[in-house]
Amino acid sequence: MSAPATDLSAAGAPATPSGRRQILVTSALPYANGQIHIGHLVEYIQTDIWVRTLRMHGHEIYYVGADDTHGTPVMLRAETEGLTPQQLIARVWQEHKRDFDSFGVSFDNYYSTDSEENRVLSESVYLALKEAGFIETRDIEQAYDPVKNMFLPDRFIKGECPKCGAKDQYGDSCEVCGSTYAPTDLKNPYSVVSGATPVRKTSTHYFFRLSDPRCEDFLRGWVSGLAQPEATNKMREWLGDAGESKLADWDISRDAPYFGFEIPGAPGKYFYVWLDAPVGYYASFKNLCEKRGIDFGAWVKPGSKTEQYHFIGKDILYFHTLFWPAMLQFSGHRTPTNVFAHGFLTVDGAKMSKSRGTFITAESYITTGLNPEWLRYYFAAKLNSTMEDLDLNLEDFQARVNSDLVGKYINIASRAAGFLIKRFEGRVQDSAMQHPLLVQLREAIPQIAAHYEAREYGRALRHTMELADAVNGYVDTAKPWEQAKDPANAVALHETCSVSLEAFRLLSLALKPVLPTLAENVESFLSIAPLTWADAAKPLMSAQPINAYKHLMTRVDPKQIDALLAANRNSLQATEAPAASADAGKKAKEAKKASTESETPDTISIDDFAKIDLRVALIVDCNVVEGSDKLLQLTLDVGEGKTRNVFSGIRSAYQPEDLKGKLTVMVANLAPRKMKFGLSEGMVLAASSADEKAEPGLYILEPHSGAKPGMRVR
Ligand SMILES: [Zn+2]
Repeated sequence: MSAPATDLSAAGAPATPSGRRQILVTSALPYANGQIHIGHLVEYIQTDIWVRTLRMHGHEIYYVGADDTHGTPVMLRAETEGLTPQQLIARVWQEHKRDFDSFGVSFDNYYSTDSEENRVLSESVYLALKEAGFIETRDIEQAYDPVKNMFLPDRFIKGECPKCGAKDQYGDSCEVCGSTYAPTDLKNPYSVVSGATPVRKTSTHYFFRLSDPRCEDFLRGWVSGLAQPEATNKMREWLGDAGESKLADWDISRDAPYFGFEIPGAPGKYFYVWLDAPVGYYASFKNLCEKRGIDFGAWVKPGSKTEQYHFIGKDILYFHTLFWPAMLQFSGHRTPTNVFAHGFLTVDGAKMSKSRGTFITAESYITTGLNPEWLRYYFAAKLNSTMEDLDLNLEDFQARVNSDLVGKYINIASRAAGFLIKRFEGRVQDSAMQHPLLVQLREAIPQIAAHYEAREYGRALRHTMELADAVNGYVDTAKPWEQAKDPANAVALHETCSVSLEAFRLLSLALKPVLPTLAENVESFLSIAPLTWADAAKPLMSAQPINAYKHLMTRVDPKQIDALLAANRNSLQATEAPAASADAGKKAKEAKKASTESETPDTISIDDFAKIDLRVALIVDCNVVEGSDKLLQLTLDVGEGKTRNVFSGIRSAYQPEDLKGKLTVMVANLAPRKMKFGLSEGMVLAASSADEKAEPGLYILEPHSGAKPGMRVR
């Protein structure tokens, strides 16, 4: 089996004699140190729509995911938060699971790569590769932090750009002048973990020999089965011409301290997170198999008749089309049937931006009160089978939801249901069910289902909306509101409403993979069983009256979009405020990643400094803020005979009880700021790294003992 066993064209696919396929589907694993945002949701919504499409055919399909938990960033973040890595990843898992549930992402199992199943599977994959001669060790020299006693990944080293001299640049490229270089080229390099100057140190690393001719042979065959021409081209580029493989060996080990799985027979050496992350797909599936009594071995063995698909972002194609299939192939497993990569999300034509409020978290979307199915619909309308980027245009978003979904589709039901309930006991006219319009709709359903399966969601929805236009045209011609005026037209009115409602049922079926919650409400309104593709041919019946129409979906209110952007800007300000240098309140809002220092003027006069009223403050009370995972609410005594209320974005670093009764320093003459949760009357000072991603952590200032609330700092 040097190539995928199956053909992936839209409808045709391998099947058991009964026509029932067995399919395993995954989405990429989100990393366990951050929130889910709408950029992530593109992929989970894309995968979920596909999975639901195939479930509606009655196939045996399992959709699994997990948090990707291992590696240096999680280890360091946990340390700054005063947590064990296990505590941190347990909390993040809850947040991720909550967000996926909110958006209707229907995982059969959502698990963690820090699981016993994953340890066992990762070890067995490694040992099999070793046995087959694919593992070798090599001594390599790397940057080492002599204070923290750890090897430093490239992105944990910063220094001055060797070309332009800009400070605080990463070890691979300069954000100021754009030049690229090796970490060893940096001037005055320092560890972002401890600030120490890195030293060079040699260590033994384990490599997966991707350069082995067996890998090249296998991958050249495997590439021919990829569904996306762009992916095939990329792989051909990576593989180079036949016989001159350009594939480089892959360093799969990291030295302690590292949060991950220790390599069997190699004390102090850990699997690099990218080795055990994809194995985590199988670990999650194995966990599901154990719960449901599914034969895991039969699904993952070479030559298995089951299908296996991975949905990913185009940035991780390399891992999923080279390492992962090669790891599986040479460790005695089946290989992926296909990998489906998508593009990146932009908002209003630009990269998601924290300062514009377009870095929208899943949580903020839900807490602002927007309907998650609006976003599912919009993404689906923009998605196709390619790796093109897609844009969330917020005006277009409102227009499509309001005019397509509500205007064209929902209104069909609201117009027809009233007459049917009032005049006809909620029963359709059976003879109307073969109306030519309905025949046309039923014939279109399999084509729409095929578009979804081919991941051409935009086409599926365009086709569906054309049909909705036809239905609205029919209603406008028949004019039920005119028919209703004359009792002599009762039969005609009954027909119009019956055709409309059956058309609505068929349109709901066509939209069900995208709008699962809405479809459920439609099913209960129409008093029918959960819709599957086969139900296209089973019309409404007079024997089963419908229920009274209840509102199914509202329009987007532009105020909600404003509130969403404001919520994401607020959370940014709350996070950045304490990290800002004293005079940089306004600048902080504009500050880009790692640019805090470069935006601060070189010198200020003593008069400038005197403008800032810094005071010692007693933290009288401290509480969490309902609805925000970034803020803490502080009640401060600054010796004024009354207390002040201050919101501070330090929740990631402190528990309320850590701070109660402590002294700190606040800016007392900062203009009060109205926030979503109330008025903030000042700012407490805290230290943080210029690049919080690379080096998370916040440290609020505390005066030496003896200082009293209200004392000036000068
Ligand atoms: Zn530079």
